[in-house]
Amino acid sequence: MLKTADNNHASTDKNTERKVLRERGQREVFCGLTSIVWLHRKMPDAFFLVIGSRTCAHLLQSAAGVMIFAEPRFATAIIEEKDLAGLADANEELDRVVNQTLARRPEIRTLFLVGSCPSEVIKLDLQRAAQRLSMKHAPGVRILNYSGSGIETTFTQGEDACLAAMVNQLPSAETEGIDRLLVVGTLPDIVEDQFRRLFSEIGLTEVEFLPCQSSVRNFGAGPGTRYILAQPFLGDTSQALARRGAQLIPAPFPFGVEGTTKWFEAAGAAFGKSILDVRSALAPYHNRASKALERYREQLHGKRVFFFPDSQLEPPLARFLARELGVELTEVGTPYLNKSILSQDLELLPTDVLLSEGQDVDRQLDRCRAARPDLAVCGLGLANPLEAEGISTKWSIELLFSPVHGFEQAADLAELFARPLLRAETLKV
Ligand code: SF4
Repeated sequence: MLKTADNNHASTDKNTERKVLRERGQREVFCGLTSIVWLHRKMPDAFFLVIGSRTCAHLLQSAAGVMIFAEPRFATAIIEEKDLAGLADANEELDRVVNQTLARRPEIRTLFLVGSCPSEVIKLDLQRAAQRLSMKHAPGVRILNYSGSGIETTFTQGEDACLAAMVNQLPSAETEGIDRLLVVGTLPDIVEDQFRRLFSEIGLTEVEFLPCQSSVRNFGAGPGTRYILAQPFLGDTSQALARRGAQLIPAPFPFGVEGTTKWFEAAGAAFGKSILDVRSALAPYHNRASKALERYREQLHGKRVFFFPDSQLEPPLARFLARELGVELTEVGTPYLNKSILSQDLELLPTDVLLSEGQDVDRQLDRCRAARPDLAVCGLGLANPLEAEGISTKWSIELLFSPVHGFEQAADLAELFARPLLRAETLKV
């Protein structure tokens, strides 16, 4: 999908003295509806009802095509211009679809009304609809709303909007000093289980995950809550938690051995655990993961990688590739550079790397062609043209569909970057 704006400029970030190229032009991104693919897997008692157009339905069905084999927990209520002859009719229709869905699926505990960008949908007040329907279906089901619109978002912002809506529903936990750690950001269940074990090994047992298997799990949020982000694209969610008085634990993101170690160290330190104790508890996992990375270090060392802005995972992944695998970064693009969240990763990035925020896709493609990287990490829309020009690519969306966090997954994460290079080498022979 192509979107347009203008205005390009370079400026120096005062905190890091690092030059950041800020671009606002045509950009190629998927919209926030895409996040439903991994959110609905994480919360098996939730249902995502997209209020959208036929385009939205096509996007979801192709992004989550595998669900054709299972009973899907998402659907699109298609609204067309003619449906808006009267908004009252559209609301009646929406109520009818929600009632029908809940009657058919009694296991649903949370139903998300997901807004989209067609003009017909923007005219509907989904927040009011969610309140109206919540009153009707409480206490068994709660109805929340958020926007997955593609007007000014990139696809991971769908998760951000969804989790921010969930944070706003958490009961308050006003008491100071309740030592609870909240891990925020969708993690595959296998990674959540590993992280719970590791937290327990460093002496943290009061740990909650948002989201978790139960979409209505009733933990509170308030001044006694300290939270650590597992995904770097959760700016709105982080602000929603801060408004409740919760405190962010700044840390690099848990990608690779170094990022994971520092992430657990930061969580431990926030609860008074010494770095030495945390390191010693993590040592067996750290050492095993470092060893597993060795073969990828050989494959990736000296390779040149160009990141197009897409998932917002780009800065921490670039940090992992540069510091742990010896990759040379030609440009690290990201849709948004949220420094309050990314500061620790940015400090670890090599200082001579060109960071860019936003996109002017033609100019960026020119820079990529000039750099001739060994690998470009990009959205699906750019992958085929770049491959046709002889540049190997990695789809950034894959990094959201695969378990990539933590020690056990560090080698798998490296493999995701090494595989396309290996394939290109094989094709050359
Ligand atoms: S929300 Fe907008 S960008 Fe996304 S699929 Fe629907 S119409 Fe397209």
